[in-house]
Amino acid sequence: MTLTDAELERYSRQLVMPEWSGAAQQRLRSASAIVIGAGALGCPAATYLVAAGIGRIGIVDEDEVEMSNLHRQPLHLTPDIGARKADNAMVKLGFLNPEVVIEPFPARLEGFNAEALLAGADVVVDCSDSFATRYLVNDVACALGIPLVEAGVLGLSGLVMSIRPRESACYRCAFPVEPAPGSLPSCREGGVLGAIAGVLGSLQALEAIKLVTGVGEPLRDRILQFEGALASPTVIATRRRADCAACGDPAHPVPEPAATPERV
Ligand SMILES: [Zn+2]
Repeated sequence: MTLTDAELERYSRQLVMPEWSGAAQQRLRSASAIVIGAGALGCPAATYLVAAGIGRIGIVDEDEVEMSNLHRQPLHLTPDIGARKADNAMVKLGFLNPEVVIEPFPARLEGFNAEALLAGADVVVDCSDSFATRYLVNDVACALGIPLVEAGVLGLSGLVMSIRPRESACYRCAFPVEPAPGSLPSCREGGVLGAIAGVLGSLQALEAIKLVTGVGEPLRDRILQFEGALASPTVIATRRRADCAACGDPAHPVPEPAATPERV
């Protein structure tokens, strides 16, 4: 199916890029993303996916908009305080691009519903704010074989990595030891500047677009760490672990990595 006149106009500034094409636009339109969390990372990630013309997007978030969210979650505006984030994100994203099918899931992603929420997606964008959820999303995406974009942000720094299950290192390959609850500061405790979440969430959208369209090179076996205080990006190599609990495959052993990157 070719692009409509309205699509040609809406996406004209990306269609004109030499790296892009009508075929890439159609691949994006045929794709379905699920975004876990409509907060600091989820707002920019979902915004750019919807603006670029992803076909379908699900937004998973159980929380309601609070005053203290507004400095870093630009889909949620002051009059939205008290609204459910998943529903509010659907409304705002619908204003942005009514061509996209947007499904709100005002629920907490947990072990019992994770597979149902992720199943059928072409890419998972993990914008959650807890390590427990991040490892769960990683493990379920690996089990289902769905490409995944992970990110974390705190203070003035963050990281992002893309994962093609059983082809490139997953989050658990890169960080095999799940931190104990409370051992690392949360966003509430450590704080975060909205703009740094905007950088990392935008990178997640970029990675997801690359994964579903084939345009560019996703961050496979690479972790991009961004130190906002110095505007300094660092790319850290990582690789699959044969004994990974999420993506290890005894039939296809892989060498142990030389080192485990620092966690952000
Ligand atoms: Zn793994």
